[in-house]
Amino acid sequence: MSIAFPENISGESEGDYQCVNMNSESSTSKRPAALPEVDLDTIGGAVRTILKAVGEDPDRDGLLETPRRVAKMYAEMFGGLHADPGRHLNVTFEESYDEIVLVRDIEFTSMCEHHLLPFRGVAHVAYIPNGRVTGLSKLARVVEEVSRRPQVQERMTQTVAELIEDRLGSSAVGVIVKTEHSCISIRGIRKPGSMTVTSSMRGSFRNDPASRAELMSLINQ
Ligand SMILES: [Zn+2]
Repeated sequence: MSIAFPENISGESEGDYQCVNMNSESSTSKRPAALPEVDLDTIGGAVRTILKAVGEDPDRDGLLETPRRVAKMYAEMFGGLHADPGRHLNVTFEESYDEIVLVRDIEFTSMCEHHLLPFRGVAHVAYIPNGRVTGLSKLARVVEEVSRRPQVQERMTQTVAELIEDRLGSSAVGVIVKTEHSCISIRGIRKPGSMTVTSSMRGSFRNDPASRAELMSLINQ
């Protein structure tokens, strides 16, 4: 059986995955998180083209389902493109606590936008509440959803910090991201084990050395 991936861009819907009109905003709320608005047929056709271009036979048995699998993988890895990760911070609770809140070692995998290869690691997310707190798991949800885009680590770090600063009105936000990039470890310079660390500090974490030092000691505990 051959898999119905067109070589050209046509695009009938297939299963739960839809070839959708990307301007259609109303469909966003109905879509389950695991089924993002991604054109699987077009990705599948492109994967067939790549397989042919590297000298493979996309119709041999072992590769028949590969275009579809890869399309689903991209739908999953880039599912965050169609979501507003800030919505996780819409519910807040009044609290007088005004010291550091830190959720550290939030594991994630994202995709380097230069090579479409994964970078994996952890994010440490901290803020000092300004009268309101959010659920701790929501900070991890923001990281998870922001990670599901093609991007560079620098921008990902800033995006998470901005969302928390904007939505929680916090006086201090610190985001530190530590990863290994496949595009460094498996290709090019091939240096497995090298880590990339980025940070985005706002408010007192940026301006007050004591506040910053307290955050770093909590992260390194
Ligand atoms: Zn890269």
